[in-house]
Amino acid sequence: MKIAEDLSRVEETEKGDDLPNIVINETYCKGCGICIDFCPTDVLEMRGNLVAVKNLEACTKCQLCDLRCPDFAIQVF
Ligand code: SF4
Ligand code: SF4
Repeated sequence: MKIAEDLSRVEETEKGDDLPNIVINETYCKGCGICIDFCPTDVLEMRGNLVAVKNLEACTKCQLCDLRCPDFAIQVF
């Protein structure tokens, strides 16, 4: 049951053939903004207290956001 609840709170970007996938776990994200600060192409933004994707096309899959998040709340692949 707990796993199902967590999965229901994962925001996943729309999948395209050649677009990156950015998965944000809203249960783990504390809205610190570190991922936004490290993103070199301004892909992410704050929406309320959580991070969100605003420009998926600009993502280079550098994974800096993924690597720098202290809460393992964002994954890019
Ligand atoms: S660095 Fe992690 S916890 Fe902080 S806003 Fe980004 S996804 Fe959320
Ligand atoms: S993978 Fe790189 S370009 Fe894409 S959102 Fe994360 S920091 Fe930005």
